[in-house]
Amino acid sequence: MSAPDVRGAVLVLNAGSSSLKYQLLEPHSAAVLASGIVERIGDDDAGATHTAGDETAEFHGALADQHAALETALSLFRETGIDLGGAGLAAVGHRLVHGGKDFYRPTLVDDGVVDEIERISDLAPLHNPVNLAGIVAMRKLLPDVPSVAVFDTAFFHDLPAAASTYAIDREVAQQYSIRRYGFHGTSHQYVSERVTEYLGRDATSVNQIVLHLGNGASASAIRGGKPIDTSMGMTPMEGLVMGTRSGDIDPGVLTYLQRVGGFDAAEVDTLLNRNSGLRGLCGENDFRTIDRLISDGDDNARLAYDVYIHRLRSYIGAYLIGLGEVDAITFTAGVGENSPTVRADALDGLSRFGIHIDAERNTLRSKEARTISTDDSQVTVLVVPTNEELAIARQAFEVVEGQ
Ligand code: AMP
Repeated sequence: MSAPDVRGAVLVLNAGSSSLKYQLLEPHSAAVLASGIVERIGDDDAGATHTAGDETAEFHGALADQHAALETALSLFRETGIDLGGAGLAAVGHRLVHGGKDFYRPTLVDDGVVDEIERISDLAPLHNPVNLAGIVAMRKLLPDVPSVAVFDTAFFHDLPAAASTYAIDREVAQQYSIRRYGFHGTSHQYVSERVTEYLGRDATSVNQIVLHLGNGASASAIRGGKPIDTSMGMTPMEGLVMGTRSGDIDPGVLTYLQRVGGFDAAEVDTLLNRNSGLRGLCGENDFRTIDRLISDGDDNARLAYDVYIHRLRSYIGAYLIGLGEVDAITFTAGVGENSPTVRADALDGLSRFGIHIDAERNTLRSKEARTISTDDSQVTVLVVPTNEELAIARQAFEVVEGQ
């Protein structure tokens, strides 16, 4: 197969603490020209797998950091016949977790933007520094290709003050930029736009709830295209029970652990980010394993599932009330797209609220957007696959095109 034409394509990067995921996309047609993942960055046994059409390439060896990971990715591109350094790549789109107060649009990166992102890195110490390392490396490796930062918080920047404000001392909140920022915004925006498109409705006339249930999980309430509430807060820890994060917890537990258990900030962080949620409750964070454990009669897995559903239903209830009238409830991301049981239990017994899931439609598997409610359900219940990479590619493309 001949190498694809990369003119006008966007390379989307999602740099994590020890991994780097990337896709090369054509933003208009949504065609994926190549994709890959580099794992165990920082280790001697790092690995990378890369696919471009029918061609694949691999790497095994030591990779010190994001720069080395990106260098490797670019050489895997070359092995499959794609020279990203040649003319034509429209942009590199970078996923940035936290935009703080000031970044709420896709932003063309220059030295000043790099400094600003660095300045706010304390807001998301697990994510932003490593996202930034990806930007810095890319600007060195492909200096002629514009980098665009797309922020996970951006969609929620204009949440109503009542939803974005924590009830704490206002001066402390101001001094430390403490507010509810919300996350997974790229997904909530993309999916909610797909929903209005799918329903053939004008975005301004649709009230909807989007449930992004992946390893991280968040819910949002969107009125006429604008979010009015979301479950994640200052950090991605608030809200729903997640794979390894606790979601909502009485803040008194944290001070209690510090006082009585001798936990320091890093230990609290690790507890709530990595050793809580489903994993904290039953040792597993993948729903496929949890389903199996439940079938085998594992009580901890059952409890983990019940806590997960209980919290999810609480948020759905809050957003039904917050919106008043709801046209659509949509499930997305790994769990939302793949678990009929979670979808059925999340919305069980809500016929009084005009919500009726069709049992057969709910169990059909598909990669397409689809309705899973009955024809006479007042609220349309949908499954819509998210595509954050495509959303980032399109936003990055728009920024460079508007230059
Ligand atoms: P994400 O973060 O969106 O990639 O979602 C990852 C999570 O989706 C995994 O941890 C699983 O819990 C869940 N998942 C993926 N595939 C399935 C499946 N076939 N059935 C149930 N859950 C799934």
